[in-house]
Amino acid sequence: LRQVNQQLTEQSQRLYQASITDALTGVNNRAHGMQRLHEMVQARAAGRRQALILIDIDLFKSINDSHGHPAGDQVLVAVARALQQALPAGAELSRVGGEEFMVLLTDVDPRQLFDIGNALRAQVRAASVEVAGKRIAVPISVGICAIDDLPEATAQHAYVAADDALYRAKRGGRDCVCMHAPAAVDQASS
Ligand code: GH3
Ligand code: MG
Ligand code: MG
Repeated sequence: LRQVNQQLTEQSQRLYQASITDALTGVNNRAHGMQRLHEMVQARAAGRRQALILIDIDLFKSINDSHGHPAGDQVLVAVARALQQALPAGAELSRVGGEEFMVLLTDVDPRQLFDIGNALRAQVRAASVEVAGKRIAVPISVGICAIDDLPEATAQHAYVAADDALYRAKRGGRDCVCMHAPAAVDQASS
């Protein structure tokens, strides 16, 4: 009976892991990422500075169009890995859309957020992916929201604010980082 019990426990753990994981990249899936965002914002205590980062691969459709969907999939896997490597310990990465990723950060100095975003951009670019024998660089756009700076710190407001910043990064020419900050419009490109 003990053995059966153990098997059931292991099986349910495997099923749980599968239910929260993005099958392609192995990072958290959208549903789990969103749940973690809600939990994180709800657990917000004074002094715990939180941030949300949204990342979108630039002109990803053209990678699919030029190299095929399987090559696009390889790029997604490589980007997820590069992001994971560049993230500070404790950061939670999820894939929230086709070529969109979200990062949740807790206990992060808001003054460092811009540098963190740029480090992600640099790491993904440097990773470059081999597609059909050729290395291609993968640019990303990054939108960041310091949750504590929001007038209303809800999951939805945080997401909208980061998405807004991401949209500005796209409009600003892509391959750059934008902060959601009413007063400051930081941008960097290389
Ligand atoms: P932008 O810089 O404005 O973000 O341009 P984009 O081409 O990255 O954006 P767009 O939304 O036009 O295209 C996203 C593409 O991502 C279209 C879709 O076919 C592709 N995509 C979504 N999910 C997957 C996937 O799982 N694998 C692959 N290979 N492609 C995917
Ligand atoms: Mg997109
Ligand atoms: Mg894109």
